[in-house]
Amino acid sequence: MIYADNAATTKMSDAAIKTMVSVMNDTYGNPSSLYSTGQRAKEVLEQARVDVASVINAQPREIYFTSGGSEADNQAILTAAAIGKKSGKMHIISTAFEHHAVLHTLNKLEKEGYEITLLDVHEDGLVVPEELEEAIRPDTCLVTVMYANNEIGTVQPIRRIGEICRKHGVLFHTDAVQAIGHIPVDVEKDNIDMLSSSAHKYHGPKGVGFLYVKKGIRVTNLIEGGAQERGKRAGTENVPGIAAMAEALKEINSKMEANAEYLTAKRDRLIEGLKEIPHSALNGDAKKRLPSNVNFCFEGIEGESLLLLLDDKGIEASSGSACTSGSLDPSHVLLAIGRVHDVAHGSLRLSIGENITDDEVEYIISSVKEVVEYLRSFSPVWRDLQEGKREYIL
Ligand SMILES: *Cc1c(COP(=O)(O)O)cnc(C)c1O
Repeated sequence: MIYADNAATTKMSDAAIKTMVSVMNDTYGNPSSLYSTGQRAKEVLEQARVDVASVINAQPREIYFTSGGSEADNQAILTAAAIGKKSGKMHIISTAFEHHAVLHTLNKLEKEGYEITLLDVHEDGLVVPEELEEAIRPDTCLVTVMYANNEIGTVQPIRRIGEICRKHGVLFHTDAVQAIGHIPVDVEKDNIDMLSSSAHKYHGPKGVGFLYVKKGIRVTNLIEGGAQERGKRAGTENVPGIAAMAEALKEINSKMEANAEYLTAKRDRLIEGLKEIPHSALNGDAKKRLPSNVNFCFEGIEGESLLLLLDDKGIEASSGSACTSGSLDPSHVLLAIGRVHDVAHGSLRLSIGENITDDEVEYIISSVKEVVEYLRSFSPVWRDLQEGKREYIL
């Protein structure tokens, strides 16, 4: 079986599992308790905070542990919205292809009277910094732009966007869930005020993540209760999960350069191979994308059927994001880059893992070619295209 859906989630690393089990066995105390078992748990927690902070060049006190990327996105956006409201600034800028954790939070704010501007990400899946700057108004309280897209993998000019936000005194949040551990992220150099991360996207456990908030910014808490996380996130800390997250992050971060180089070569070979399929197109810029991401549209087929047949061949991939698959709506990301409905339905996302081999890459290419051809052989849309009753789009 070839697991090529690492953007949906990753397998936990051995080191992360080992850390998690060891903390569960030996450091089961409540970090708020004063006796030694509790204090040992507290030490594990604070060491994890130091480790996580150092990977993104933050201070440990700027890290808030959460239940994952979605919670961190919600908390960051609601934090900026609350700060903005105090001074009558209720305009937020984002993009049309953010994760639903961002988009749905913005929808909620819109109903509460905030004004939302969603920037165009164009055909290449990239925000144009000058367009972002033009959209900033005196009442803009937040810019939230994802570091790397989870479906098409495009990596945004985050440093430049951060620079523009600093210049205009606007808070800048980035959903860096797909970036952390995979490409270099530095909150200082990148001018980031708030950042979301999730452990299960870099071989850590599910249900744990963190939010970075630059010191001096007053964080809004989503969960009321005890004084954990400096009063900003109540609830007994997920110590085993947090320790395992830190372990996974340290490990992947130490191999980042080598992983990126290896994966980029495999990615580019996949792109080259799949491009040979007639009437197909790569989604998103070919180079400004995550080393692990390949996303194609094939005209005249349904992505769902493609996935099922690939699964039969032992290849696990995705079409659209896990959150939207299961519904018949085409991916909002593909629509945002201008793919029409028919074409967006025939999409395939491969997000490859660090252990993929050359043989597996070649097997994926030949399998996709075979399955696309097979599906087209009885597709009424494909027949219409071939008979000239319909125009090719790709
Ligand atoms: C996976 C993902 C999330 C959600 O993270 P969870 O930890 O699953 O809540 C948010 N944003 C992006 C870009 C993601 O890929």
